[in-house]
Amino acid sequence: MELNKIPGIGPKTEELLNKLNVYNISDLHSFYPYRYNFIKISDINEGKNENIIVVGQVQSTPRVNFVRRNLNILTFQCLVNNIIVKVTIYNRMFLKNNIKIGKYVTLIGKYNKKTNTFTASNIKLHIIKNNTIESVYHLVSGLKANSLEKFINYALKYNSTDYIPQYLNKAYNFIDKDVALKNIHQPTGIKLLKQATLKLIYEELFVFLYKINFLKQENKINKNGIRKTFEQDKVEKFIANLPFTLTTDQLNSIKDILIDLNSKYAMNRLLLGDVGSGKTIVAIVAMYANYLAGYQSAMMAPTEILATQHYNSIKDTFKKDDIKIELLTGSLKDKEKKEIVKKLKNKEIDLIVGTHALISDSVEFNNLGLVITDEQHRFGVRQRENLQNKGEKTDVLYMSATPIPRTYALTLYGDMDLSLLKEKPKNRIDIKTFVKKESEIKDVLTNIYQEIKKGYQVYVVSPLIRENDNDELNDVNSLTKNFKLAFPKKVNIGTLHGQLKNEEKEQIMNDFKNGKIDLLISTTVIEVGVDVKNATTMVIFNAERFGLATLHQLRGRVGRNDLQSQCYLICNKDIERLRVLESSNDGFYISEKDYELRGEGDLFGTRQSGDMIFKIARLPRDIKILLQVEKDVGKFIEDNIENDFKNYPAFNLINKTLR
Ligand code: ADP
Ligand code: MG
Repeated sequence: MELNKIPGIGPKTEELLNKLNVYNISDLHSFYPYRYNFIKISDINEGKNENIIVVGQVQSTPRVNFVRRNLNILTFQCLVNNIIVKVTIYNRMFLKNNIKIGKYVTLIGKYNKKTNTFTASNIKLHIIKNNTIESVYHLVSGLKANSLEKFINYALKYNSTDYIPQYLNKAYNFIDKDVALKNIHQPTGIKLLKQATLKLIYEELFVFLYKINFLKQENKINKNGIRKTFEQDKVEKFIANLPFTLTTDQLNSIKDILIDLNSKYAMNRLLLGDVGSGKTIVAIVAMYANYLAGYQSAMMAPTEILATQHYNSIKDTFKKDDIKIELLTGSLKDKEKKEIVKKLKNKEIDLIVGTHALISDSVEFNNLGLVITDEQHRFGVRQRENLQNKGEKTDVLYMSATPIPRTYALTLYGDMDLSLLKEKPKNRIDIKTFVKKESEIKDVLTNIYQEIKKGYQVYVVSPLIRENDNDELNDVNSLTKNFKLAFPKKVNIGTLHGQLKNEEKEQIMNDFKNGKIDLLISTTVIEVGVDVKNATTMVIFNAERFGLATLHQLRGRVGRNDLQSQCYLICNKDIERLRVLESSNDGFYISEKDYELRGEGDLFGTRQSGDMIFKIARLPRDIKILLQVEKDVGKFIEDNIENDFKNYPAFNLINKTLR
């Protein structure tokens, strides 16, 4: 039902509510409080005097003192627990006429026994009862808490839909949905509030997992992909001719992918592998099979540098084969772009690598069969889908180097199949990592210089400072200045940051790749995927600004060969957290630690907005419920897939929101 049916909601208020993502009555139902105040009335004679709530009767007409501009103090006498105390509050002149002798008020603040003064932070013009629970909502400016409460109260007169199947409601003894809503908004006691919270968390997770699992199943049942046939022998020969032996994990992932390509359902697979685990070659084999089957492949990378690197290594890998490969990025001239777009449409290109440019409207494929997105967490869902939609029944492979614990992978990527690269190529030696204070920088510089003298290369990374884009430049530039002072002239120093033109960036990256630059000072633009084998050392400044998982990814730029590599984390605080990186090189373990230390924000933050926002469930707090729901949903779908879910209300949600 629409919002404007509720008394008091005109077009203006409706707009404000829309800002809170509230569009109808049912949104109001699920606009849950983000916090509760548990009211305990104190007695000022009983010791605890900070942050207390007391009830009193006004004894004098309030006086206002103007201290200076923007600061006034309101003062009155009040009878609290049989003592007449002096009450003061700042900047509440407007209350003056409402505070009348004989009236009861509730005071929130602190009481000083010596001066017999109650310094209030808030005054309510009525008596708050002891042991009540106050709901606190997110608001936008222009919308008052008590108006919102009124609207919600009105909305609660309407029935809601309970998305938990009846048999589960029974099994868990959940309270009725309408009762739960009433109690989540207007709690009358702790016990019912807890029951309501549990019920609504379970429901939210149930619907969420139901949606993604249903879609996954449905894809398999409807077989809405194309069965691709290719000569298995040729793929095997291709693998045998690679310059290195693939790891078992790589071979298994390739097997998963080839089965998907060859099956009637569309592939929707996530290839999850730590940095340096060799995801690219897996993608290349997939594209080769897709090419043999007669289809075009597209590979999308989040940055121009990375797209170019993929393009080069793909070209190199296929140098003996007759595959037509092109690169499409934003920095191409319009004429070149048009040329490529034309060739794609005419099927004169088999394999295209690119950046976001690939999803622009003008790009059309001839028969796109496989889409691969690298570092997929960098793209929004919409961007990925846009590329997917450029082909009919396209197979899709996502690659990500953000190792996440299985349970979180389940919530983030539950709609995808998963292939894992846990094992690293054999010749790898673990990176040695050292956490250092800024005062120890001299030792670090000495070590770096040793490496450069041996002919190896060094990355220096400085964080991107988000508050002020110019600082980023200053940061990298002043570092460059200092490094130039510290090292002899023959050490070639390059500087790379996001504000350079693309051609400049590429030039610098190429110079580094070709060994013309010994030491590269950079912002995190090098974070994703850059592969320079001769680089053995990385120094990261202000390391405390990064999450552990990000630092692990960054340092993955070194150690890409059989040389001993090292990483220095320079910081002055947060040292204990960073020590996790000294002790481990296992991305999955590190991300688990990161998660423990920093919560879900970081992980879920990487998925774009609108995607992952639970209204009441919180991870990892509710992980146990999530695991139970996973089981329940699995069984529910299995039991109901035959009879088409006709009676299950959440089925309609899928139709509305996900197709
Ligand atoms: P990531 O998984 O981080 O994207 P890449 O695909 O860039 O890793 O691979 C890292 C490097 O390891 C590349 O230079 C690649 O050629 C190399 N490589 C990949 N697989 C193997 C292997 N099985 N043995 C040796 N080197 C490999
Ligand atoms: Mg990569």
